[in-house]
Amino acid sequence: MLAADFAHLQQDVEMLNASQCDWIHLDVMDGVFVPNISFGFPVMEAMARVAKKPLDVHLMIVQPEKFIPQVKALGAYMMSVHQEACPHLHRAIQQIHNAGMQAGVVLNPATPLCMIEEVLADADMFLLMSVNPGFGGQKFIASTVDKIKRLRQMLDAVGSKALIEVDGGVDSTNADMLYRAGADVLVAGSAVFRAPDPQHEILVLKGLS
Ligand code: ZN
Repeated sequence: MLAADFAHLQQDVEMLNASQCDWIHLDVMDGVFVPNISFGFPVMEAMARVAKKPLDVHLMIVQPEKFIPQVKALGAYMMSVHQEACPHLHRAIQQIHNAGMQAGVVLNPATPLCMIEEVLADADMFLLMSVNPGFGGQKFIASTVDKIKRLRQMLDAVGSKALIEVDGGVDSTNADMLYRAGADVLVAGSAVFRAPDPQHEILVLKGLS
């Protein structure tokens, strides 16, 4: 939703409701963990009232575990926290599960995969940032493709069925490559909302058109 028209959020959420997208991804920024502020809970509550797809809430904030009850109150399906923001990551995953949500762990481009080695079997999803978080509309970092392949091998090695999500600079020029590398979930912002026909662009990204 970061690339949506914030003056017409209802219209944009309804467009996604009517589309073939699977989830609605919400990027929360606090101006501390990342150098920008996006939107907070009052705005997300407004979007959640209109949304008919599962909410995928990506917190780019310090101390994300403090907000587990509020994310749960939104009716979120998935809550993702950054490894870099959680010194007690294993506990944060447990707390998200205890709240009844799926738990995702996010890595910035410069964070090596070894940082999640001990929680491979615990999280439901691992989100690899393919841009440095903070702004929409950035260029995809090409080395992410190899990182996806290596993460897929690590998950297979421990028998984890966790999903791999990719976020940042995803568009129709790299979606197929990311899927082939092992990504399960692609986050697209600008590619969808800047397209002449956003619903058709979603089909293109999913390889359905
Ligand atoms: Zn995100």
